[in-house]
Amino acid sequence: MSQARRRAVFLDRDGTINQEVGYISQVKDLRLIDGAARAIAELNRAGLAVIVVSNQSGLARGYFSLEQMLAVQAELERRLAREGARLDGFYYCPHHPRGKVERLAIECGCRKPKPGLVLQAAQDHGLELAGSYMVGDRWRDAACGQAVGLTTILVATGHGGQPPAGDREPDYRAADLAAAVRWILTRAGENRHA
Ligand SMILES: [Mg+2]
Ligand SMILES: [Zn+2]
Repeated sequence: MSQARRRAVFLDRDGTINQEVGYISQVKDLRLIDGAARAIAELNRAGLAVIVVSNQSGLARGYFSLEQMLAVQAELERRLAREGARLDGFYYCPHHPRGKVERLAIECGCRKPKPGLVLQAAQDHGLELAGSYMVGDRWRDAACGQAVGLTTILVATGHGGQPPAGDREPDYRAADLAAAVRWILTRAGENRHA
């Protein structure tokens, strides 16, 4: 009962783990970013939960089906597994307020920068948000993390973390996911949890 809840690294998917190609819908377009799988394997070894939180508004926009999206995700997880990396959870938002698919065209609580996906994952997996991290390639990833007190890292891959003027800076900017994970794992205290 006294056991501390597990901390996590929340990861954006497109542009952070795999190359941003714009609403990826086909396995043939899936390319992992160099070093991403090994970086996730290091997080696994360090005992941090690895949770993907992904806006997939292509579903609401009618650009691809749920089956297509899940096929891309399954292939991503197969490729990660080949390098000894695994995800502890995959959470996605299928919504967009101006979507074409009526039941998904809503103002939801889970499209980043809203924190619904993170909060759901924390509840499902018993995660401690204090001391957890968010890594993504867009300002809305950082804003989502900031909304729930995560330490936030923007990577230069994908959309490159360009924030609109006035948004809070992330805690750190990294070249890519591998560099972000190095920063996370060398921060004071992190290795004690290995
Ligand atoms: Mg992204
Ligand atoms: Zn949503």
